[in-house]
Amino acid sequence: MYACLFYGPGDIRYEKIPVPKINENEILVKVDTVLTGGTDLKTFKRGHPVLIKKIPSLFGHQFSGEIVMTGKNIKKFSCGQKVVSLNSAPCLECNFCKKKRFNLCENIEFLNGAYAEYVSIPERIVKYNTYIIPENIDLETASILESLAVVLHGYERSEITKDKTLCVIGTGSIGLLFIALAKLNKVKVISIGRNPYKLNISEKIGADFVLNIKDFPDEGELIKKINSLTNNYGPEVVIEAAGFPETWELAARIAGRGGLVNFFGGCKKGTKVELDTYKLHYDELKLIGVFHHTPEYVQKALGLLSDNYIRSVIKNIISKTLPLQELKRAFQMHESGEVIQIAVKPEEYR
Ligand SMILES: [Zn+2]
Repeated sequence: MYACLFYGPGDIRYEKIPVPKINENEILVKVDTVLTGGTDLKTFKRGHPVLIKKIPSLFGHQFSGEIVMTGKNIKKFSCGQKVVSLNSAPCLECNFCKKKRFNLCENIEFLNGAYAEYVSIPERIVKYNTYIIPENIDLETASILESLAVVLHGYERSEITKDKTLCVIGTGSIGLLFIALAKLNKVKVISIGRNPYKLNISEKIGADFVLNIKDFPDEGELIKKINSLTNNYGPEVVIEAAGFPETWELAARIAGRGGLVNFFGGCKKGTKVELDTYKLHYDELKLIGVFHHTPEYVQKALGLLSDNYIRSVIKNIISKTLPLQELKRAFQMHESGEVIQIAVKPEEYR
C-alpha cells in the first residue's frame, strides 16, 4: 500500500510499504478520508514526543473508512461496514478510569498511522472507540468526529447557558465547532480571530459578533468593544481555542466578573502565563483546563453529525480535498491559513 511516512521535521515521504497485519482482536480499515489537524501539523514541523517513537513512522489519526478485514474474535464488526475509529481509548481500569475521568487515563492507547491506504485498529480502540457511521452521514463528514467530541467535552464543561454570552478566541476547526455548538443552543457568540478568511466563516456559521484582533492594536479598545456588546459586563464564558500563552492571558482579561475561562488550546510545553491575581480573586473567575474526549462524548458527537446545521458547518470547515501524495502541500496550506481542514484521500487521483 501507499502511505506517508514521517522521517523528520518537514520531511515526509510517500512510499510503498506492506499493508499492516492484524491479530485476532483487531480490524483493518481502508481509509477513505483522513483530516489534517493541528496535532499533525505540529508533528510535521517538529516531530512528536509521544506519537512518533521511531523513524520513519506512520502518522495521522482523524479518519473514516471501510472495514476490509476482521480478526477471528471480532463479533461486533464485519467487512464492508463504514466506520470511524477514534485516536485513542482508555483502559477502564486505572485510578482515573475508575473515577470515570477516562480522558485522563494513565494507560491511554493511541492510534497513529492513518495517512495510509490501510490502517489497523488496535484491540482496545476496536472495543471501546470504534463506531459504525449511520447511513445518512457521508464518510468525509464522519471523519471530523474526534474534533467534535473534544469540543463537545469542552463545551459541556464550560457551564454555558442561553442567558450567557460566549466569547471564543480562535477560528480554527476547534474554535468554529465551539461556535457551532453555541449557536445550536441559541447562545450569543463573540468570535475573535486574526484571519479574515476564517472570521468570515465564523460569521457565516452564525457568530453574532466577529472581531479581528488586528483591528485593535490597543487591547483596551478590544476589551471596551467586547464590553459594549455585553451590557458592560463582559462575557460570562471565554473559551481559548488558539493555544498561545498570549491568548490565554487575553482570555482571562476579557472574562466578565464571575465568569469562566476555559483554556482549551494546548500551548507548547514549558510555556508560562501571567494572570492578574486581583481580578482572579475579586471577580471570582473560574479557570479550567479541558483536554481530549471520552467515549461518552464521542457517542454524543456521533448523534450531532445527523444535525443539518452541524453538517453545514463541517462542510465549511473541511474546505479542500487533496490526494495523499500531496500531504506536504496540505500541511503547507494548513499552516498558511488559507484553509481550515483538508480532507486527504489515499485513493483519489492515483
Ligand atoms: Zn485508564
